[in-house]
Amino acid sequence: MFNLILFGPPGSGKGTQAVKIAEKYNFAHISTGDIFRSEIKNKTELGLKVQEVIEKGELVPDELLVAILDNAIGKYSDVDGFIFDGFPRTLRQAGDFDSLLTSKSQSVSLVLALQVDEEEVIKRLLIRAQLQGRKDDTEDVIRNRMVVYHTQTSPLIDLYTAQNKYEVACGSGTIDEISENLYKIIDKHF
Ligand code: AMP
Repeated sequence: MFNLILFGPPGSGKGTQAVKIAEKYNFAHISTGDIFRSEIKNKTELGLKVQEVIEKGELVPDELLVAILDNAIGKYSDVDGFIFDGFPRTLRQAGDFDSLLTSKSQSVSLVLALQVDEEEVIKRLLIRAQLQGRKDDTEDVIRNRMVVYHTQTSPLIDLYTAQNKYEVACGSGTIDEISENLYKIIDKHF
């Protein structure tokens, strides 16, 4: 099982690229953001619990994440791997994830980061806000999500670099150009 973490700041294009990668390599695409948005839409207990935090651009509490992940992974049997989009986002989540994978005799195979210019990212997110009407895409919330990324998520770079699992791909250009950058790196590890 190939366990690929797609990494990068909010708006770096992870969702778009994850869908393409999942299709090309027969991976299941696990987006924790999509899971939460669906729970909110369906007004489930979990959805109601996380809605406010998400709308502020903060992170959902770590202790909720691993059970959600485990449940999502368990839904797939006929795949060659998983692509994790938006998870892990904190050191605690990375540690919990490691334990979960170890319990299944697996490990993180590769952490692939999309490198983008941050101002470009903010512009992209504002456009997406207009198109999709996401409540966490107002300018203040976007800036907060960037701060959250820098303080809570970027420490994962050092963690995975120390494990020799961290690679960076250029995340600017057309969607197809970016995909090619990613495929080249995945092919080296797959
Ligand atoms: P995303 O679509 O990945 O940008 O996620 C949207 C929002 O869902 C984030 O801003 C967080 O509030 C929440 N979220 C998604 N994934 C996680 C995670 N791994 N840990 C905590 N919160 C998350």
